Amino acid sequence: MIETLMALAAENGFSHWAAADMSALTPRQDVRDMCCADRCGRWNASWSCPPACGTLEQTAADIRRFDAGLVVQTTGALADEFDYAAMEDIQRRHKRSFESFARQVRLLTGECLPLSAGSCTLCRRCTYPDRPCRFPQRRMASMEAYGLLVSDVCQRSGLGYYYGTGTMTYTSCVLYKTKNEVT
Ligand code: SF4
Repeated sequence: MIETLMALAAENGFSHWAAADMSALTPRQDVRDMCCADRCGRWNASWSCPPACGTLEQTAADIRRFDAGLVVQTTGALADEFDYAAMEDIQRRHKRSFESFARQVRLLTGECLPLSAGSCTLCRRCTYPDRPCRFPQRRMASMEAYGLLVSDVCQRSGLGYYYGTGTMTYTSCVLYKTKNEVT
């Protein structure tokens, strides 16, 4: 399965990918605390982000249903460290690729857990908390929202997290089952 998913990652245009070190996929309170500090403005503002995406106990239980994963990255070039237009463009490309990739992995595996980069942006304005999510089957929480320290997951999975001056990288992962008995 992993070879098939790696081939799919290449087809979807990712820059780097590697099998996830599943022992690194442990939700951490310090990461949840960073969400809670709300520097991105998405705390308590989206069905895909904390607190709506679940407690750390719930995200850990969700992750434990799977025994394998693939980490994928999109790296792009920046003109300088203030090139926000390029950063947004790289993130847009990464999200588009990852949505397509996750849909294909779901078709292949039957059940998987995609964890994206950044908050859900499917709708111009999230319905949270007044109305139910418009696309509960398509929305994805981010790795950070699940309490994962992305740099650590990358490093322990044999990937870089930062590919040097003048670059920006976005990272996501998809978890899947290799054994039916994983619950
Ligand atoms: S799909 Fe729409 S309503 Fe649901 S979490 Fe994403 S932005 Fe919010």
